[in-house]
Amino acid sequence: MKKTIRDFNIKDKKVIIRVDFNVPIKNNKIIDDNKIRESLITIKYAIENKAKVILLSHLGRIKTKDDKNINSLEIVSNRLRKLLNKDVIFINETRGKKLEEAINNLSSGDVLLMENTRFEDLDGKKESCNDEKLGKYWASLADIFINDAFGTSHRIHASNVGIATYLESGIGFLIEKELLNFDRILKIPDRPFSIVLGGSKVNDKIGLIEKLIDKVDYLLIGGGMSYTFLKALGYNIGNSLLDSDNIDFCKKLLNNYKNKIILPIDSIVSNDINNKINIKEVSISDFNNDDIGLDIGNKTIDLFKKYLNISKIVFWNGPVGMFEIEEYSYGTRSILEFLSETNKCIIIGGGDTASAAINFGYKNSFTHISTGGGASLKLLEGKKLPGIDVIDEKEV
Ligand code: AMP
Repeated sequence: MKKTIRDFNIKDKKVIIRVDFNVPIKNNKIIDDNKIRESLITIKYAIENKAKVILLSHLGRIKTKDDKNINSLEIVSNRLRKLLNKDVIFINETRGKKLEEAINNLSSGDVLLMENTRFEDLDGKKESCNDEKLGKYWASLADIFINDAFGTSHRIHASNVGIATYLESGIGFLIEKELLNFDRILKIPDRPFSIVLGGSKVNDKIGLIEKLIDKVDYLLIGGGMSYTFLKALGYNIGNSLLDSDNIDFCKKLLNNYKNKIILPIDSIVSNDINNKINIKEVSISDFNNDDIGLDIGNKTIDLFKKYLNISKIVFWNGPVGMFEIEEYSYGTRSILEFLSETNKCIIIGGGDTASAAINFGYKNSFTHISTGGGASLKLLEGKKLPGIDVIDEKEV
């Protein structure tokens, strides 16, 4: 068991909390602040327990000087101030005198947010390649390190693994909640246990499928990845997404787990994704050569509902259609709506599925919506998450 923030006496201590404030920003506006809101529980706990709180996060990727202009965390500090209803000291540096003085001047209960950790990537990818000196330097600024950035815990960065190597460490409430919820799937799940898989590529989900296929009762496959499975069965999939390197993998899986794998029986297709030409609903056996499958059809929605209805626990990773475009979002919306009206244990595996659930108004309708797409996939594949693995163990 990993130590948690509760295992430390944080009063009057300088506590670095690595949060995940990597929020989507468009035209200088935060368009979804869910990740900031999810971090509040740990931040508020640290404030209430009179720690001197130092927040670190990355935002976007920093490859050029121009990237710095659009990826400053200042905009996040403004939102955080509002959400906490409290002053947040923002320091537009990732090292140096200004930052050190500001930290040394903190009173207990104060909150400071440092500039984007990835600003350190401009000069030799110091953050993303876990530069030893940088991890040591950031660790030198505090007494305790708390990792609460689940979304980056599958990465080895200076701001998670680096700092934790040199400081006493624990996890925050967000990571604790993520691990507890994923345990429900990884241990012995209630049955029937179903997985809905969608998204674009079969390749990204092979590890997950291999790890969970024997545990699962039904694997419902939609989205772009379903067409590679349909191709493996010999259907004409027109111009739909095809992961040709993985046709053999799909064939083998379909042979070995015929009764578990549920594929679409109809699709919403178009001849041109962007111009939305000739949108129609067709049976899987009626594709023309220029049809592109972009969403599951109504018969598939009903078929999926039938299996979901008898399931006790459902894990969902990957939208079942190109949900960002209104015309191809109906399948994803319908499954979300259906699941939101049940009392089942439903875990949404981060990434695009989490955005769809939140943006379509189902933020509070499920057992758990993960804040980490890549991290949740790695966890379910049975891989260790370095950002969590490095954290101190509880003494027994
Ligand atoms: P992933 O990151 O693999 O979960 O993929 C998510 C992406 O898959 C989203 O951007 C969706 O638009 C896309 N997607 C879902 N269904 C389809 C489809 N039928 N064809 C192409 N892309 C799709």
